[in-house]
Amino acid sequence: ANAEPANVFSEGWLKRVYEEKPAKDVRSRFPPEPNGYLHIGHCKAIAVNFGFARHHKGVCFLRYDDTNPEKEEEKYFTSILEIIKWLGFEPFKITYSSDNFDKLYELAEQLIEKDGAYVCHCSREEVNMQRGGPDNRGARFACEHRTRPIAESMAEFRAMRDGKYKAGEAYLRMKQSLTDPNEGNPQMWDLPAYRVIEKNHHHRTGDKWRIYPTYDFTHCICDALEGITHSLCTTEFQQSRISYDWLLEQLDMKTPKSEEKGPMQREYGRLNLGGTILSKRRILTLVEGTTAEKKNADGTIEKRTIPPSVRGWDDPRLYTLVALRRRGIPAKALLNFVEELGVNDALTEIQPPRLESSIRKHLERTVARQMLVLDPVKVVIEDFAADDDQEITVPYDPKGTIPGERKVKLGKEAYIDRTDFREEDDPNYFRLAPNKVVGLYNVPFPIRATSYSKDENGKVTEIKAVKATGEKPKTYIQWVDAATAVPVKARQYNSLFKSESPNALDWKTGGWADDLNPDSEVIFKNAVIEAGIKGLLKEHTLNPSGSSDDLIRFQALRTAYFCVDVDSTEDKIVLNQIVTLREDKAK
Ligand code: ATP
Ligand code: MG
Ligand code: MG
Repeated sequence: ANAEPANVFSEGWLKRVYEEKPAKDVRSRFPPEPNGYLHIGHCKAIAVNFGFARHHKGVCFLRYDDTNPEKEEEKYFTSILEIIKWLGFEPFKITYSSDNFDKLYELAEQLIEKDGAYVCHCSREEVNMQRGGPDNRGARFACEHRTRPIAESMAEFRAMRDGKYKAGEAYLRMKQSLTDPNEGNPQMWDLPAYRVIEKNHHHRTGDKWRIYPTYDFTHCICDALEGITHSLCTTEFQQSRISYDWLLEQLDMKTPKSEEKGPMQREYGRLNLGGTILSKRRILTLVEGTTAEKKNADGTIEKRTIPPSVRGWDDPRLYTLVALRRRGIPAKALLNFVEELGVNDALTEIQPPRLESSIRKHLERTVARQMLVLDPVKVVIEDFAADDDQEITVPYDPKGTIPGERKVKLGKEAYIDRTDFREEDDPNYFRLAPNKVVGLYNVPFPIRATSYSKDENGKVTEIKAVKATGEKPKTYIQWVDAATAVPVKARQYNSLFKSESPNALDWKTGGWADDLNPDSEVIFKNAVIEAGIKGLLKEHTLNPSGSSDDLIRFQALRTAYFCVDVDSTEDKIVLNQIVTLREDKAK
């Protein structure tokens, strides 16, 4: 019997995918375009591809799909690998589509020779007409280039390679089923295989190539060359499965109508997160700021400079994976989340609260408790005696799930949160108020407030209290010993936009900037935390390397889950709120 609990790989959709092609040596791949940072949706793609290989004791390649020299940057390559490792996966091999440029070129010539491709000089508009016009409903027809002699296409393809043509002047097109009136799938209407790119400097192949292969030509061939057995991608590619197979069959890399030989493409549903922005282009606008132009009714143009709205791609308000990592979300929690949602061919649309509840569930079982006071006000326990002075030993987790304990110092002065004191009492209010009793977590006696003082602005500066030994408080609050308190800066996060569908905002003329939530980041500069945090810091490194998941996380009692941010120094700890304790507390 299988001792492993059932998971997305051992049952359901992914099980059936395996059964369609029960390969002994499973090879999968994760093929990102190195043109941006990965986001939460990619976490699903990583979990599916690497997880599938792991489950079947096979291997998974990380293949950088670097066929677009205009958009690629080194930092994206580094970050992608780092995130994969952070999620707990190790690529069997790191490859680049560009590794295969020579081979791809050779195969393109082979395809021409077999009369499977031709060089076409039609404009985009002409090609659109050939493909049935703007709505693709008209008659489809071939252009004069489709029937040109093979030798002529070959010569022209070489001329493209050798720089005779500018971008747009020549394409290599696959000779698919453009003229077959029964072929309803646009993926078979003579797709381009190669195009001329003028800004052609490639980070790996330099200036060697002026022509670059398209996704449709490259992807299936790279899969075949790497011996990929299961090529798992998202459902937007369902339509492309037919051209994927067609090209491989033309090149004898796949047996027609069979999964015996060559890779098998199958498509799972994307994971989309609502309530936020995931598009690379839009995030870039948030990161870098922009100038937007709005055309008024009278034809005048209004210019608008919008400053950056976040500190970087890893700003905890974003849903890139670097941002989620920085916000303190454990890699394991993300993987559990993807697993909980399941994998099949349907699109998964979720809102941030769903993600947060999953993270909360994970943190609840895994992190230590601490006492943090975000907005401190001092309480002086006037009858605190010298022989009261003590140290309490408190477990990291009152339920005992998380091992360990820390010493909590107790003295005459403590901080409590400003929101836990009221000048005016109320019968429905159970925390501290003049002449009212409240319990302090783990302290053997409750306290009763006797008086308080205020500054010239009416802000409470100090509360005087006495021990209320023997009395039964209605509630307990967190506190931090004043003498040993560690000052921290705590950042709390709320959604970046006021709207719940920021993608529907005006992204053309900058209207989105009016919807930014001014409280998306709330900073508590004067927060204090118990000295116990030092124990946690000692057990971890303060600035974990990007690829590890060694962040310090804790539950601040009655407050929220937090992690220690990499901005922290020996002198000042900076905290990020990971998630609130309960959904209803989220703003
Ligand atoms: P985006 O357009 O959202 O930036 P992309 O498709 O351009 O994403 P790639 O770098 O090509 O990004 O993605 C690598 C892999 O991740 C692809 O196989 C793609 O299908 C998958 N992927 C991308 N977005 C999602 C998503 N939201 N859910 C699941 N898988 C995704
Ligand atoms: Mg893509
Ligand atoms: Mg994209």
